[in-house]
Amino acid sequence: MSLACIHTHTLFCDGSDDIETCCRAAFQKGFACLGFSAHNPILKKTGIDNGCNLPDEKLEEYISEVLAAKKRWEGKLPVYLGLEVDFIENLTGPADRDLHELGLDFIIGSVHYVLPPKGEPFAVDDKAERIERGIREGYGGDPMGMVEAYLNAEIAMIRSGGFDLLGHPDLVKKNNFKKDGDQNMLFSEDAALYLEKTAAIAALMGEKGIPAEVNTGGISRGKTKDCYPSLAFLKLFRRHGVAMVINADAHKAEHLDGYYDEAKKSMLEAGYKESLIFEGRQNGRALWRSESL
Ligand SMILES: [Zn+2]
Ligand SMILES: [Zn+2]
Repeated sequence: MSLACIHTHTLFCDGSDDIETCCRAAFQKGFACLGFSAHNPILKKTGIDNGCNLPDEKLEEYISEVLAAKKRWEGKLPVYLGLEVDFIENLTGPADRDLHELGLDFIIGSVHYVLPPKGEPFAVDDKAERIERGIREGYGGDPMGMVEAYLNAEIAMIRSGGFDLLGHPDLVKKNNFKKDGDQNMLFSEDAALYLEKTAAIAALMGEKGIPAEVNTGGISRGKTKDCYPSLAFLKLFRRHGVAMVINADAHKAEHLDGYYDEAKKSMLEAGYKESLIFEGRQNGRALWRSESL
């Protein structure tokens, strides 16, 4: 199985290494390709200022730096220009027309934010204290309110389209674990509502024919015990014929191939025999090749 990652964050957003350091690490690890996926600018569109997304005024510089790296590494490492685009219902998402005029190689569609009926929007992968406050103020103390809003947002994003790869399909579980081994801190992944919504997501992805990612970033950062998505959710994707791409969601160059063995193990257990490797963009479509796991 070739190693590759098209979900990579750098100093331009909330990562801690620069573009060249990531390229060098990917080359040393023998990667088939490396794609950069800064969190897209959202401040102008949504008023949300979180310090994680690329500042609006840095977008051009980000694009030109990735394109320069693409040239520098030509013949040695295929480098791709992408964005991880936030879907925030009624405000912004991967279908936004301006994003499709940037000449990107790919867009990862990701839900991080929920918009509670009361209280402020918050990101489900924020710190545990922020999540607790969000659930208390926004959902009357019921974690399932947040979970349902998250999965509904993902369904709405898939329906509206505009992305080439679904990012971390169950990011909402990030704060469901504690390091000392406790899990299901907030909700059970066996809850009927959870099973129903994740099945709906997998079915919709199958209909659309868009791949999803197996993302090892939660494990690398010590936040989860397993990949996004969990094995049960991955089995649903398998049942609906959704192809999968293994990504690190790296925020550090050293994490670029972190826990790929776990990802592979979980894919084999779900019945997958192949994963996809990104091969660029042609005629407005992402190109992928299948590889045996
Ligand atoms: Zn993300
Ligand atoms: Zn990411």
